[in-house]
Amino acid sequence: MASCSPTASSPDAEPQAALRLEPRACPVCGERSERVLLAGNVVPERLDAFAYASRKDPEYMHLRMVECEACRLLFADPAPAGGGLEQLYHEAEFDSADEAEWASRAYAARLPEIAARIADRRGALDVGTGTGSFLAYLAAAGFGDVRGIEPSAKPVDQAPPEVRGRIIRGIFRRDDFAPQSLSLVTCFQTLEHLADPHGFCKDVHALLRPGGALYVVVHDRRALQARVLGTKSPIFDFEHLQLFCRPSLEAMLARAGFRDVSVAPLWNCYPLRYWARLFPFPAGMKARIVGALSRPATRGWRVALPAGNLSAVAYK
Ligand SMILES: [Zn+2]
Repeated sequence: MASCSPTASSPDAEPQAALRLEPRACPVCGERSERVLLAGNVVPERLDAFAYASRKDPEYMHLRMVECEACRLLFADPAPAGGGLEQLYHEAEFDSADEAEWASRAYAARLPEIAARIADRRGALDVGTGTGSFLAYLAAAGFGDVRGIEPSAKPVDQAPPEVRGRIIRGIFRRDDFAPQSLSLVTCFQTLEHLADPHGFCKDVHALLRPGGALYVVVHDRRALQARVLGTKSPIFDFEHLQLFCRPSLEAMLARAGFRDVSVAPLWNCYPLRYWARLFPFPAGMKARIVGALSRPATRGWRVALPAGNLSAVAYK
């Protein structure tokens, strides 16, 4: 197993430009750290094959992850130069429309609390919207001019016709929106993928009206599941350039200028077969269990669990 060391980015290694790894400081504090919590196992020659593999594959590669001593963020160092992986590998994480709908239902649980506090509900933007499944919830909560933004073609193509016109295909860029033009920005399970999540939060702050909110959901690396499963946890994913916990999430939002930051565990209600897919059963056993839970008699079985995610709402 080759280690994911900075030598992978040396000129001698002749890596592909998009896959070059380079040293990285904490994207929240700017501090370097030598507190290695997970050694990297990236084999550059395998990266192309990985692009087409299922992210549920237990043998997937991961980046070297270090913990920031100041804010407790776990972040990739070294990391792909220029955040290049965001584009290359994003397709692999595309969930089915069914799973996206279940996730959106869970995210919608905090919308009444947010809508009650924002009197002027004009302009809501869902960043990393996928099939746009959350946009209907934003409209139902009373937000006008609801839009989503999504870099990958596949989920946008599969979005229902009634929301597809509301999805901007591309990367979020602050300059594409007028300052102080939005009342709410939502961003679910996406901050882990950004090369500069703190910069993203600062950009959102500039686009929000006074009193507007940023609502995010991230994996909680300190959740029970993550601690029990250790490096077998699905959150240790090659695409994740950082993993948050409550202190690091609070620190990032406060540094971006937000106030009244409220962090809470997120409860997800999913079909049992979906939970089974996430659990690290041996491959053959997993296929049998998921198959058994996908039959007509069992498909409807649902369970609500705190799935190891944190939600945070922060106001400008
Ligand atoms: Zn930090």
